[in-house]
Amino acid sequence: MSLIVQKYGGTSVGTVERIQAVADKVAKSYRSGNQLVVAVSAMSGETNRLIGLAKEIDDQPSLREMDVLVSTGEQVTIALLCMALAKVGIEARSYTGAQVRILTDSSHGKARIQAIDSHLIEADLNAGRVVVVAGFQGSDDSGNITTLGRGGSDTTAVALAAALKADECQIYTDVDGVYTTDPRVVSRARRLDKITFEEMLEMASQGSKILQIRSVEFAGKYNVPLRVMSSFEEGPGTLISLEDEDQMEKAVVSGIAFNRDEAKLTIRGIPDQPGVAYKVLGAISAANVEIDVIVQNVAKDNSATITFTVHRNDLAQAEALLRKIAEDLGAQEVDADDRIAKVSIVGVGMRSHAGVASQMFEALAQEGINIQLITTSEIKITVVIEERYLELAVRALHSGFELDTQDGNPS
Ligand code: ADP
Ligand code: ASP
Ligand code: MG
Repeated sequence: MSLIVQKYGGTSVGTVERIQAVADKVAKSYRSGNQLVVAVSAMSGETNRLIGLAKEIDDQPSLREMDVLVSTGEQVTIALLCMALAKVGIEARSYTGAQVRILTDSSHGKARIQAIDSHLIEADLNAGRVVVVAGFQGSDDSGNITTLGRGGSDTTAVALAAALKADECQIYTDVDGVYTTDPRVVSRARRLDKITFEEMLEMASQGSKILQIRSVEFAGKYNVPLRVMSSFEEGPGTLISLEDEDQMEKAVVSGIAFNRDEAKLTIRGIPDQPGVAYKVLGAISAANVEIDVIVQNVAKDNSATITFTVHRNDLAQAEALLRKIAEDLGAQEVDADDRIAKVSIVGVGMRSHAGVASQMFEALAQEGINIQLITTSEIKITVVIEERYLELAVRALHSGFELDTQDGNPS
């Protein structure tokens, strides 16, 4: 008998009919002899609707109350799914995160799971029940409800799978696996049979919103076999696992990730001396603004320029801070630009191949796309470009690295 954790995302439980279809899928797996724990998201659009309600009252509502509010979306779907399971003859029990005792830290809105009490779940499984757990939420050690950040149900599922030592964690969504790039943007994107944890982590970190980053970190850390598959059709999906043995066979680039969530800030004409980067970036970090790409350059006249990116939501705050720092340092000027996009090529094959960066730059040059910033890791090259060229860049790189399907249809 295998223990499987399944997760169904928002579109997969978006209507009553969809919830009934999920119940049929769960029942099928249960009847084929598996023990099942199911994590579910809120119905699609519900979390946004709840956030909208809060914003009508207060633009900056209490984070604690926000978590109480947005966690309700998942409470609806766990109950409905258990009712639908009962209708098809399966005994199931629903639990909120706090009821299970998914213990998190107290960072409302972006809490991290610290421990999961598996007693209740194991007792139900042993009694032959299916257990349905609300994704995206937990509670801290004072009992306050917390949430794990957008897309957090993925992390609930993987953390449950790790805690219960499940045989597999299956993420059911509205695409039939992980693609070479977002199939909604590139119609020639191809489904991958396999991808390594490391590559998936880079893809997620660089903007592929198919899996929450934390869920991939968890899966890698606890070696949870993770599979992304469609809740709408049958198929093998994509297995996310440790390094492939048949490395040699692999393409150099496995996938292309992108995001439009960032903005770029530049401070020019600052002194080139120890402690300046700290003064500039330390002050931004101290305000809890996360900094992503950083580039520093020194001109002939010994004045330095620092460019960095932040989330667009943090731009106004970061720009105001930077202008103040510029004044203190006697800097020449500060520039802010929110019309940028980040594109990354990802692949463990890069470790053993030279010339990947120049191939990337050539593909972009051929389309006349200017590169503003470049940053690399061992298995990734990222460029920042003007936002309006994003789709063109992704398509050019997708065909340049021979990732396109032949027939133009998603495989
Ligand atoms: P769920 O509601 O099931 O959690 P999400 O919307 O969070 O679903 O994630 C699925 C979506 O991720 C897909 O509809 C697709 O547009 C997007 N996506 C982004 N990058 C990729 C990729 N590389 N492969 C597959 N899907 C991707
Ligand atoms: N409902 C939450 C969200 O929309 C969590 C999730 O779907 O994973 O972000
Ligand atoms: Mg999701």
